[in-house]
Amino acid sequence: MPMFPMLVAATLLTLTSPTEDDRRADGPFTQRGYYITFMRMPTYDLADWKRIVDGIHNDGGNTLMLWVAGAFRSKKYPVTWKYNAEHENIRHDFVGELIDHAHSKGIKVLLGFTPFGYDGVNQYPLEHPELKAIGKDGKPVAPFGIGCWGYNLCPSKPESQRFMLEYLREMNARYSNADGLMIESSDYAICHCEDCGEHFFEKEFAFVRRISEEVWVKKPEATVVVYPHYFSGADVPGFGVKAAKLPFDPRWTLMFTPHSAHPEPSLIERAKGSLWSDDSPARKGPQEIRANAQHARGAKMTGYVPSLEAFTFVATVAEEGQEWLKGRRQVPLGFGWLDPGEPPYDALLMRVNRIAYREFSRNPDLAFDRYKEILGEEVFGAFATPRAVDDLLELQTVFAAERTWCQPSPLTCPERVRAMQAAGTMTPPKRGEYRAALDRIHAVEARYRESKSDGERELRRIARWVLDRWSVEDRKLLEDDR
Ligand SMILES: [Zn+2]
Repeated sequence: MPMFPMLVAATLLTLTSPTEDDRRADGPFTQRGYYITFMRMPTYDLADWKRIVDGIHNDGGNTLMLWVAGAFRSKKYPVTWKYNAEHENIRHDFVGELIDHAHSKGIKVLLGFTPFGYDGVNQYPLEHPELKAIGKDGKPVAPFGIGCWGYNLCPSKPESQRFMLEYLREMNARYSNADGLMIESSDYAICHCEDCGEHFFEKEFAFVRRISEEVWVKKPEATVVVYPHYFSGADVPGFGVKAAKLPFDPRWTLMFTPHSAHPEPSLIERAKGSLWSDDSPARKGPQEIRANAQHARGAKMTGYVPSLEAFTFVATVAEEGQEWLKGRRQVPLGFGWLDPGEPPYDALLMRVNRIAYREFSRNPDLAFDRYKEILGEEVFGAFATPRAVDDLLELQTVFAAERTWCQPSPLTCPERVRAMQAAGTMTPPKRGEYRAALDRIHAVEARYRESKSDGERELRRIARWVLDRWSVEDRKLLEDDR
């Protein structure tokens, strides 16, 4: 059940209301929706995922980039999912049914994976160590991952190419009702062996072109999203090599991100579509969502499909170098009160960002004050006040502050502050900043003790939850005489 049934009804109403002149029905983007790391969310079943899809629909979305590699039960390559055996889709293969449900809501589903790297694929070298990519130091790469730790592959090795093709053929055949692929080039490593080197992206492209063509033979209208690294000839952020300069087929849709693929105007002009994807709904706030929607429109993207990643896997290694995370289940979006099986997207603080996405992706020029009014109406109804909306935004900021992909905000997680203390990164100004933030949360909590609406009650409950994280002993971590 959604947390606020009345508010969901209100959402549907506003989506169909054409009366407000500052809220356009369509806006600048043909593709709207989210990028979601399905493979790193093992705890949600089909009913949960249907609800997530319904939420995307309510946000005005028509596109879901669903990262499925590593999270389907490959018959040919069981090593790709062995690490993920608790995943609900490994246990009850439901993605096909989920795609049918998405279609009933007008949402297209693109199956996501990374060629020669990341989740699922990076497990193959556990059985075939000779396929490991080579690092800049000339040695086989060290293990790497997020949730799924393994090795990226060298695409110059024929066996790596054969494995990628057969694994993807199996995924495509299993979920033949999907609307295409999202082929996400790695953002952390390439292969520096003698055969790859400056030609790495040409080698990767050999596979990308072949699997794209196979998809289009079966389904000519399929959307295949690729990175610009095969065509632009530009510097690829982070790798010290240039992109390849191979012929571009305008049937491809291109994906651009702030950290790994910068907009290429001459390619954008020729592509079937071009998508901007950033982390603002997952990790930042409404102001950043607005700025990114404006950026995507300015770069003439046809779509704004940002990340809504949340993780619920149990860390088996020190993710992000943090030993304290080992053996713990990841806390989706930092919302530590949720049961492992409860998706985080209907939680109040995520609704702040989802409403922002719904509004700013439809109209990037919507005044921020107008967004605040809309947010107030939906969360607090007749009891909305500017003060309550500011308090809600303040609380959202607390959860986003310094949150990383794998670590909750320090303000909601004394364990993390303890690790920072041990690492020597807790400076006096930081301690003062955290104390002031907790004081502000205390004030928010106090203001809504006589709550007038579901929204106020929930605001107060979350503020209380944050304060309850901090025992007397934990609060000493923030004292200056330490
Ligand atoms: Zn190589």
